[in-house]
Amino acid sequence: MKIIDKDILDVEFITHEKINKLSTFHTKGVVKGVFYPKNSKELIAVVNHLTRNNIKFKIIGNGSNILISPQGAKSIFISTKKLYHYIRFKESKCFVSSGVSLNQVYIHCLRRSLSGFENLAGIPGTIGGTICSGSGAFGSSIFDHLDYIRILQDGKIKKIKKSDIEYGYRSSSLKNTIILSACFTLEKKDRQDIREKYINNCNFRIKNQPKGYSCGSIFKNPEGFSAGWLIEKCGLKNITHKDACISEKHANFIINNDNASFYDIKYLIDLCKKEVYRRFSIRLDCEVEIY
Ligand SMILES: Cc1cc2nc3c(=O)[nH]c(=O)nc-3n(C[C@H](O)[C@H](O)[C@H](O)COP(=O)(O)OP(=O)(O)OC[C@H]3O[C@@H](n4cnc5c(N)ncnc54)[C@H](O)[C@@H]3O)c2cc1C
Repeated sequence: MKIIDKDILDVEFITHEKINKLSTFHTKGVVKGVFYPKNSKELIAVVNHLTRNNIKFKIIGNGSNILISPQGAKSIFISTKKLYHYIRFKESKCFVSSGVSLNQVYIHCLRRSLSGFENLAGIPGTIGGTICSGSGAFGSSIFDHLDYIRILQDGKIKKIKKSDIEYGYRSSSLKNTIILSACFTLEKKDRQDIREKYINNCNFRIKNQPKGYSCGSIFKNPEGFSAGWLIEKCGLKNITHKDACISEKHANFIINNDNASFYDIKYLIDLCKKEVYRRFSIRLDCEVEIY
């Protein structure tokens, strides 16, 4: 891609960036190119440039909920990883930019004895990616304490209240938006209790979730069932396909043992879907976005 727009000349742009730098699945291959804006001005300039030129793009945070396909790799990515990060507080209100990790927000909240992020902190995502994906853990959702977000729309910054967002279990109406920042209202609580909850959650993850390259749970839990249990009952735990593997520790996790491609992981996703439907007549719905 030839960059001629002077507004974006200074923005870092890497052609043929490796997918393993963009997605925690660490699959093989490269994408067409990635912009790494440093601040909102650069981000806005990049989005305007791509929109004006009808260039397909995808914004990405930590890439911990996205499996990039060869088709998706043909588009341009905008990463929020190097975007100017801020976390500001005004009493119990917390203002955060989109590329900040949940863990960072938790640490800052803990210092102020503010509760709201201790159940979410183990999710390895950014604020933008988490809101877009409707992520949650341990009975909490990113929307529980959300007040509003600021998004970029038609070249302008727009405030959207939580009441104007449609969201549910691991879903939101914010796909294809550009989230710039978010504001949360948190609760003052005992600092020791907040920390203890976080540590218990971390211990639960260490005990029950596998290490390695993954995007966490592959499938949403169907109403009344655990996706992991259904997959396990189909005898698929520890099944491998080339360098991809259905985890022995948690059947709803697919692990890239190092060299797996998009197709190797997709093969196991399709196998789980097929076998769970054959045995239980339940259709599994992906939690991980296949882009
Ligand atoms: C080990 C592990 C454990 C996990 N545990 C959990 C869990 O307990 N609960 C859970 O819900 N998830 C879990 N996940 C999945 C994942 O971490 C979450 O979905 C996370 O919130 C995704 O954030 P991200 O920044 O990585 O988003 P990405 O994967 O980068 O992007 C996800 C989506 O958000 C969009 N997006 C990213 N940034 C923005 C932005 N600024 N504006 C608009 N859209 C944006 C992308 O376009 C994409 O559609 C886990 C993943 C791993 C690897």
